[in-house]
Amino acid sequence: MAVPWRPALLVSRGRPSATSVTLMFSVPGWPGHQAGQHVDVRLTAEDGYQAVRSYSLAAPADGERVEIGIRPTPGGEVSPYLSDDLPDGASVEVRGPLGGWFVWRPEQEGPVLLAAGGSGIAPLMAMVRARRAAGSPAPFRLVYSVREPEELWYRDELSGPAAAAGGLTTRIVYTRRSEPGDERRPGRVAASDLEDALFGPSAGPTCYVCGPTAFVEHTANLLVAAGHPPEHVRTERFG
Ligand SMILES: Cc1cc2nc3c(=O)[nH]c(=O)nc-3n(C[C@H](O)[C@H](O)[C@H](O)COP(=O)(O)OP(=O)(O)OC[C@H]3O[C@@H](n4cnc5c(N)ncnc54)[C@H](O)[C@@H]3O)c2cc1C
Repeated sequence: MAVPWRPALLVSRGRPSATSVTLMFSVPGWPGHQAGQHVDVRLTAEDGYQAVRSYSLAAPADGERVEIGIRPTPGGEVSPYLSDDLPDGASVEVRGPLGGWFVWRPEQEGPVLLAAGGSGIAPLMAMVRARRAAGSPAPFRLVYSVREPEELWYRDELSGPAAAAGGLTTRIVYTRRSEPGDERRPGRVAASDLEDALFGPSAGPTCYVCGPTAFVEHTANLLVAAGHPPEHVRTERFG
């Protein structure tokens, strides 16, 4: 059966980083979702013109609440409008939840290795939050690549005391400019960034890799080259 379009009311906005926004919608009749799934968002102009884009769900299921995170694409048709111009109380339409392979379920007990590039953190954040909400003992490690410190989403939630207390280990990889004092030189994710004895191929983690296509292909190739079976490496490309 076709997944229906539902009206989605913008109830609040957040700022996970200086360069991105989160949008919290209320969607009557929302059926719930799994961490990792996404929605299609449809905008309709007064003259009937429509534009549809996909956005990952950035938080686990919570009644009618649907949260997405957006890094506006300069010159893009939809993302600058959603992030800068859509007023609180306005309605768009959403269709979902979509996708069934790139998901993490609380009953999965094995270790999990997450790799995010830029806004690819959104669905992985839903997994981190779903794990915490479920009190899951599954070991989680996140390797998170952004260009520079200002682009890091959810800084406190991912690397502050809450993350450490919750058993999440995070490695931040800056590709262009690091924090002062950072020993790692800026550069794209390398095999050494992904290595960790507790999350190596022999530990059999499920790997989730999400972000721009070039990041996903590069990182998934590194994981497979390191010995992770391809069927353990799940990918989501933002295109
Ligand atoms: C499954 C999935 C999940 C996603 N989740 C997220 C998410 O959580 N967060 C997020 O921020 N994004 C996400 N995306 C990406 C998102 O769907 C959009 O692609 C993104 O927001 C850009 O949309 P846009 O309409 O602003 O840009 P578009 O108008 O689609 O343009 C994209 C780029 O192409 C350029 N361009 C447009 N038209 C042309 C042309 N004719 N010739 C040359 N260049 C052109 C634009 O300048 C821009 O740089 C996801 C994508 C997928 C597939």
